[in-house]
Amino acid sequence: MLEKCDIHITDHCNLNCRSCTHFAPLAPEFYLDIDVFEKDINRLSELTCQQLGKLFLLGGEPLLHKELIDFFPIARKAFPDTNIIIITNGIILLDQEPRFWKACRRYDVHLWVSQYDLNLDFDAMSQRAKEYGVTLGFTSYTRTENNEKYWGKWPLDPEGKQYYVDSFAHCTIRNCVALKEGKLYTCCTLANIDHFNRQFNTNLEMTEYDYIDLYKIDSHEALLNAIVKPIPFCRYCRTREFDAGTWSPSKKDINEWI
Ligand code: SF4
Ligand code: SF4
Repeated sequence: MLEKCDIHITDHCNLNCRSCTHFAPLAPEFYLDIDVFEKDINRLSELTCQQLGKLFLLGGEPLLHKELIDFFPIARKAFPDTNIIIITNGIILLDQEPRFWKACRRYDVHLWVSQYDLNLDFDAMSQRAKEYGVTLGFTSYTRTENNEKYWGKWPLDPEGKQYYVDSFAHCTIRNCVALKEGKLYTCCTLANIDHFNRQFNTNLEMTEYDYIDLYKIDSHEALLNAIVKPIPFCRYCRTREFDAGTWSPSKKDINEWI
């Protein structure tokens, strides 16, 4: 079965991380339309017979979407037994109204807070979640000797000269399957490459062989077979050259991604 699937509720973010693999620092303000969400999630549900391990609602920063809780009943109806998780940087989590927490509880939506070097009250987040009976966890990151947050980039090759099979074989984010506008992508990089191309006037070309159109396939098997194979777009990824460093804000410089 499909292990997990990402859906961007927003593309933009209220944090600005260098080399963000979802290209959020480069993204214009975008809020997912709930009708598009409902249509696509129902199609995914139909194709997978409601079998999905984890559904991640993320971005960008999903809490920036004012109608976020309206997505919960639709997602829960489509996937009654799936672990539905919001991934947030936590910056505006404690600003959420009681109706947000009650909706998380009611539709069994969990929260994963990515811990950045920000002066946020993570204890208060845990306490608030506990008060409302909501499951909340933290994604922490390895630290350097100076207690700086490790961060890295998965560099792109804008000329597309890599051997795609080799890139795919060494890719550590290839299972971040992403659903966007009726199409299922093998990774978040591919799903959001339009932001990179727009910002830097590049043409990392996506073809019809790089994704699956959920409305053009008719079986769960076809879906599963398509997402486990290297795709032509992998020629743009230098996956053997993962570049480790420490976290810093993005300057929107192309070198953060290549
Ligand atoms: S918080 Fe996440 S989505 Fe936002 S810029 Fe940082 S890595 Fe990207
Ligand atoms: S395009 Fe291929 S190699 Fe690049 S991140 Fe996606 S799955 Fe990995």
